[in-house]
Amino acid sequence: MAEAANTRDLAGRVALVTGGDSGIGAAITRELAGRGAHVVINWHSEEGPAEALAREVARGGAEALAVGGDVSDEDDANRLVAETVARFGRIDILVANAGIQIDAPALELEAKDWRKVLDVNLTGQFLVAKAAARQFVEQGVNENRRSAGVIVCMSSVHDVVPWAGHVNYAAAKGGVDMLMKTLAQELGRHRIRVVGIAPGAIKTDINREAWSDEERASQLRELIPYGRIGEVEDVAKPVAWLCSDEADYVTGTTLYVDGGMTLYPGFIGNG
Ligand code: NAD
Repeated sequence: MAEAANTRDLAGRVALVTGGDSGIGAAITRELAGRGAHVVINWHSEEGPAEALAREVARGGAEALAVGGDVSDEDDANRLVAETVARFGRIDILVANAGIQIDAPALELEAKDWRKVLDVNLTGQFLVAKAAARQFVEQGVNENRRSAGVIVCMSSVHDVVPWAGHVNYAAAKGGVDMLMKTLAQELGRHRIRVVGIAPGAIKTDINREAWSDEERASQLRELIPYGRIGEVEDVAKPVAWLCSDEADYVTGTTLYVDGGMTLYPGFIGNG
């Protein structure tokens, strides 16, 4: 279980977390709220978990709102930001976290499943980032904040590590890297920061079959020099730091939170 946040460095900030009701997104929701932020929890297919998380967060003193929407739909992406502003008067932080996997060997992957993963994992990030950034530009830099807004793009080690059997996912995450860097370059003059976070293997529903039985978990650990599979809080805490003013000079770069998965673990035995 997560340790409670020990800082209120996001007090009064307003955050939107896409896919904020599950897995890594839910941990980010809890962490941002624990640091004092009001959080809009975007859900996609089931309202109940987002509503329950909103109530949990509210018990801890933060305000939260659950809002349904599909990030790959432009109207929904715009509405998520509009509902955030309608409720809290502004938005300071977007965590573009929503993502899916539809896995198949490349030679069998259907075009519709290629498109679906690109739509959600890449186009969806662009659409919510665009909607949030337009609002950041309109708001400008508030006197209590160092930037006009922060966008965190949820990437993966598979933005640099090729992944056989997951070509749609790897291509989307590779795209997220250039989406993030180009937005950071273009929006910096508005004092908008855009950063990436690239988890390695983190225990959530998206990859349950890779860690839920001991044999598969042990194979997975072979890929992780630090020797353990990640927990959602391992990602949520660095995300919260990236969102804070402590990270005000960090933009256009990705933080890898992967226990060393990107360190070519196959070479540990000298190759
Ligand atoms: P998860 O399945 O628990 O969460 C995915 C979330 O995305 C869910 O809340 C789901 O409702 C939401 N979502 C799916 N389609 C959506 C849509 N069209 N519109 C809005 N929301 C939608 O899995 P997770 O592991 O927490 O994944 C979260 C993010 O982390 C994803 O972007 C994933 O690629 C990334 N990631 C996960 C791992 C890992 O090991 N778990 C590693 C690297 C990156």
